[in-house]
Amino acid sequence: MLMPFRDLLERRRAGSAIGAFTCYDLEQAVAVLRAAESAETGVILLLASRSFGGEEGDVLAGALVVAAARSAAPACVQLDHSSDLGAIERALAAGVGAVMADGSKLPYAENVALVRDAVERAAAAGAGVEAELGSIAGDEDFAVAATAGAFTDPAEAAAFVAETGVDCLAVSIGNVHGAYRERPVFDWDRLRALCDGVAVPLSLHGSSGVPDAMITRSIALGIGKINVNTELREAYLAATVEALPVAVAGAWLSALHRAQTDAVAGVVCAKLRTFTSGAA
Ligand SMILES: [Zn+2]
Repeated sequence: MLMPFRDLLERRRAGSAIGAFTCYDLEQAVAVLRAAESAETGVILLLASRSFGGEEGDVLAGALVVAAARSAAPACVQLDHSSDLGAIERALAAGVGAVMADGSKLPYAENVALVRDAVERAAAAGAGVEAELGSIAGDEDFAVAATAGAFTDPAEAAAFVAETGVDCLAVSIGNVHGAYRERPVFDWDRLRALCDGVAVPLSLHGSSGVPDAMITRSIALGIGKINVNTELREAYLAATVEALPVAVAGAWLSALHRAQTDAVAGVVCAKLRTFTSGAA
């Protein structure tokens, strides 16, 4: 069932985080929702902005919304990382329940202006907004080794949230999208200050490749939403390679899709277990 973004975050069990998983196709969406149903937890389906920018973007957005609405798990579809108000407007029209208005590469005042505008447009559609302050390095859609970008300043983050009215803030504390060039190291004191000083739930992007102990420590400090993408793509592609000979031999497409869905659901189940392991 569809649940508003803010409700999904605020109603999460204490000591847990909501998982947000990128879905490039319906196989992934079905896998994520099936895992959330079996874990009896809410979930967010992320729509990559490159996917949405493609010719079939509106169709994929609509398909994810229908899949989320039909699920027994509380779910919300979110347009991920976009600095394009036109795309944000189109995604809201396509029925997404949240957008990420990413002005992290802009100067502070322009980031505030972008996010304020997005918050106004989203509110008119009954949707929520996530923003980013500081800068998370790396690429969202393909794995390239990255080192951390500019870290989020706690005092600036508190002011940013108050100025914009945003529902959730992505922070940079040593996390990167894609793959870590070196062993990930988080700035725990910074995360503690951010969680203590910022009035809305914080999100952690770039969780693929981060040891579970670091994830659970982040949640214990107050991280409320965790984005996962790379590990799902890796599982999907490994399952595709493995299932391909049998699928090709029988021109058996549904067997291939089932292998992909099962592989992604397995990763999502494990992630949801970690994200809820400290729940009261
Ligand atoms: Zn991200």
